[in-house]
Amino acid sequence: KEEYLRKPKWLETKINTNESYSGLKKLMRDKKLNTVCEEARCPNIYECWSERKTATFMILGDTCTRGCRFCAVKTGLPNELDWNEPERVADSVQIMGLKHVVVTAVARDDLKDGGAAVFAETVRAIRRKQPGCTIEILPSDMKGDYESLHTLMSSEPDIFNHNIETVRRLTKKVRARAMYDRSLTLLQRVKEIAPDVPTKSSLMVGLGEEKEEIIEAMDDLLAHDVNIMTIGQYLQPTKKHLRVERYYHPDEFEELKQIALSKGFRHCESGPLVRSSYHADEQVSQASAQ
Ligand code: SF4
Ligand code: SF4
Repeated sequence: KEEYLRKPKWLETKINTNESYSGLKKLMRDKKLNTVCEEARCPNIYECWSERKTATFMILGDTCTRGCRFCAVKTGLPNELDWNEPERVADSVQIMGLKHVVVTAVARDDLKDGGAAVFAETVRAIRRKQPGCTIEILPSDMKGDYESLHTLMSSEPDIFNHNIETVRRLTKKVRARAMYDRSLTLLQRVKEIAPDVPTKSSLMVGLGEEKEEIIEAMDDLLAHDVNIMTIGQYLQPTKKHLRVERYYHPDEFEELKQIALSKGFRHCESGPLVRSSYHADEQVSQASAQ
């Protein structure tokens, strides 16, 4: 029988809900939209949706062509491409009155452009409908296809996010069909295309990495001109997913944050419940101010 680590008390959270939050959940169903906030049962959902006015939409369907071993998104044959999705996302952003939106997508390795055209159209549609809202994009590596990256960047997002998720040694085990160096190169290319757009990447800890490997990942990101880093605790979504090897103490997250800042990241969010999109509204303003 497999042994599971006991969850420490700082990870016990209660989801806070209220009426407006339930209304927003209904809006997502009516508009046939998926959010990472709901899919991942993110503990920050109330704070983000109701107070900070932030949400993370997952576009291009709810089925991914990859099957990363930490991720709860379903894998299989993807849905047909939906060209009305950009308008529906933009409508929801407007109805929710969002100030910052993160647009991410399942990996669409079945499509030649990886879904970049619909992705870019989603950014434009949000810009039209909710002009004051900052837009962060969080695409897959699009198999390293630079034409797709150009398509995406032509929509002029405010921030480009692509997650390395784990350290170099564990990439093969954790991220299906992704490559550590391909992700780093992608982040670097964004700077070549749009030098003023802040870039960002996230790391989950607790998958069996050593501290030196985390520091090496920080150095690798900085060597590819990445400006913002987020670090959070990996949590196992179901028994079929990778086990948590270690729970980091909040003090260790703080120490990692200080290391990241001393090394030269413009902004770093690091904590047990930090997710790639957590407090993203602050990151965009701080990163652009420098
Ligand atoms: Fe959604 Fe990200 Fe906020 Fe979680 S942290 S609720 S995924 S926007
Ligand atoms: Fe999940 Fe993204 Fe991996 Fe697909 S590519 S399984 S959505 S982490």
